[in-house]
Amino acid sequence: MRHKNIVILTGAGISKESGIDTFRDRGGIWSKVKVENVATPQAYERDPSTVQNFYNERRNNLLDTSIKPNAAHFALAKLEREWPGNVAVVTQNIDNLHEAAGTKNLIHMHGELLKARCANCGLVLGWEKPLGEGEKCPDCHQKTLRPHVVWFGEMPLMMDTIDQLLSDCNLFLSIGTSGNVYPASGFVQVANSCGSHTVEINLEPSEGASLFKESKYGVATKLVPDFVDTLISNQQASLSI
Ligand code: NAD
Repeated sequence: MRHKNIVILTGAGISKESGIDTFRDRGGIWSKVKVENVATPQAYERDPSTVQNFYNERRNNLLDTSIKPNAAHFALAKLEREWPGNVAVVTQNIDNLHEAAGTKNLIHMHGELLKARCANCGLVLGWEKPLGEGEKCPDCHQKTLRPHVVWFGEMPLMMDTIDQLLSDCNLFLSIGTSGNVYPASGFVQVANSCGSHTVEINLEPSEGASLFKESKYGVATKLVPDFVDTLISNQQASLSI
């Protein structure tokens, strides 16, 4: 088996064809609102209801019945099921489309839109309603529930586990990410330094495109299923030799 362990980093581009806007593309979220007004701890301190409303609206959009996982999400779930080695998906996305497609070995490094977190005691709980300022934490009873998302300037989640996965992987795939957000944009360098094969799949070359050993450009719903099928059939062919 050429690539025993696989780590896949995904970004907003993989969910674009499911109907969720990316951040930086033309017409994307940051062309409509300023990041510093809605996605930083300072914005939340200054104006909590604007920040809560921004995430309430996105949570409500995500719960629309028209939003479903697409062929790229399903292909990654199939890879996890059929690959004999370890397959881990590390997503920057806060939507729930990987798990809805069946991916199990999943890290939400930037948190999850359908969860709330208590800023006082750290309790994380499933949350599908609008989140307001009056909501009390069921554990510590303080009115300190906030979206369970990582804002700019905060530390992404589970970085130790991600570092370990990257140092043990033989194939690193980056799908649908512009390579603008650190530390995810640096994962390719870690994987390269550990001798991994590195592949970018994106609509267009990302900021870090030159760091990848292989690249494929086009829409995720076409490229990801093709890539996964080739990977699985090459692996099966190598076993039958
Ligand atoms: P980004 O908006 O910066 O970049 C998206 C990338 O996807 C672009 O390079 C674009 O060319 C590519 N892309 C667009 N449509 C595509 C398609 N159909 N197929 C393949 N690629 C496509 O997103 P990012 O790099 O993930 O930015 C980081 C931040 O965006 C993360 O922190 C993440 O939390 C957040 N985000 C998440 C969601 C979500 O949960 N779905 C949506 C928007 C933003």
